[in-house]
Amino acid sequence: MSDAAVASSEIEINDALFCKHFKEVCSECDFDGRADNDAVFGFDPLDREGLEVQAATQNKEGDYCCKKHGSANCNQCYGWKKQISKARVAAKKAAKHK
Ligand SMILES: [Zn+2]
Ligand SMILES: [Zn+2]
Repeated sequence: MSDAAVASSEIEINDALFCKHFKEVCSECDFDGRADNDAVFGFDPLDREGLEVQAATQNKEGDYCCKKHGSANCNQCYGWKKQISKARVAAKKAAKHK
């Protein structure tokens, strides 16, 4: 993905898109990155909870790094594939109980 594809109100962390408030779904900026992020990580779009971004700081290259480990592609804080799978399982479970 090229940097040009990322609008100024959006940020990219470890290949996933978020709004500038570090939210995957944000009512304030009318942003919903779930479909894009699902596609990036090879999932079908699903109505799931939005991901939450751990506290991040920008390094001098402009990449967002987790505060805990100082890594821009931290598998613990920014392991989106794992976090998306978890959210999908939760969403499917919730759907069954409706
Ligand atoms: Zn926002
Ligand atoms: Zn981390």
